[in-house]
Amino acid sequence: MVDRDRLVETFLTLCRINSPAHSEAPVADWLQANLEAIGMTCVRDDAGGAASSPSLSDTGNLIATLAGNVPGAEPIFFAAHMDTVEPNPGVTIIVDGDIIKTDGTTILGADDRAGIAPIVEAMRVLVERDLPHGPIEAVFTVCEEVGLLGAKALDLKRLTARYGFVLDSSPPVGAVVVSAPSQDSFEVTIKGRPAHAGAEPEKGISAIEVAAAAINAMHLGRIDHETTANVGVIHGGEATNIVCPEVVMLAEARSRDPKKLAAQVEHMMHVWKSTAAQYGAEAHIQIEHQYEAYSFGEGDPVVQRALSAARRVGLAATTKSVGGGSDANVFNARGLPTCVLGTAMSGVHTHAERAAISDLCATAEWVIAIAAEGVRKP
Ligand code: ZN
Ligand code: CA
Repeated sequence: MVDRDRLVETFLTLCRINSPAHSEAPVADWLQANLEAIGMTCVRDDAGGAASSPSLSDTGNLIATLAGNVPGAEPIFFAAHMDTVEPNPGVTIIVDGDIIKTDGTTILGADDRAGIAPIVEAMRVLVERDLPHGPIEAVFTVCEEVGLLGAKALDLKRLTARYGFVLDSSPPVGAVVVSAPSQDSFEVTIKGRPAHAGAEPEKGISAIEVAAAAINAMHLGRIDHETTANVGVIHGGEATNIVCPEVVMLAEARSRDPKKLAAQVEHMMHVWKSTAAQYGAEAHIQIEHQYEAYSFGEGDPVVQRALSAARRVGLAATTKSVGGGSDANVFNARGLPTCVLGTAMSGVHTHAERAAISDLCATAEWVIAIAAEGVRKP
């Protein structure tokens, strides 16, 4: 049912729009024009900044509604994010058989245009073929890559759907993400004491030494099958002849089990504090809870609808657990059961990012099938 050439053109058009986080307006404008052209109603919430400060983006989240054509069919939503992880102005796109990629000097932006383009194609097919469906809300968020900020700010009063699907995961298409972790992030400042490193080093306390000892004593990397931790950024020091007085570290911990996350956070705090104390230094720790874990069973209606629709269009319907967060973590925490669908994107957040055209088409077929699942014209 999907128009392959039209879908590829949509995908390429979106990938050529430069829209890093905070600058999603050109994507929102393109979507609004093209979705209004097929009769969808578009509104933007004020997540962009009219009411919030500091301003998130040059646009709000875009909510496009397709009225249902079967009385009584329940509304559902599909969501994807409009921002990309880094800018890619002037991207050079190479189509090599089934594979769409860049020349290797920038990201492609398949994350998350491999979600957006199939949603657009599916809406076009539903309308032109007059297939039976309930009300559909297509939600396009801002600032996903910088902390799920658009989803957190989304004006839920504008949604009538009580559950939905986020298109923002890697292949295989047909795989449904049923579980994702919570994440806490840390900013840790180690305060030592400066001294001349040649003249009187014994008067100093090296924050670099404290940081090294703490990191060395800390359980990091893969803690168990559902728990990870990482110190990802470290800044400090000015010159070799100064005992370094201050180091700032950025770190994170994730787990699909909230109790394990709490234990890992406790462990990291303890190591930073006790190591600093041993050296006579101080550790100032700021923790921010980024998002909540979620976990579905195969029997949950949102999962069932996705799996059953996948089977209907001949996809290998499977479930998977992931180690990263998405807008779905926020929607679930805000009371809207949401699972994530596998799409065409792979190698995301790297310059080797790519998407298979066959997977883009399969994703659009899947979205159409989810919309039609269980909906019959009277
Ligand atoms: Zn994404
Ligand atoms: Ca991403």
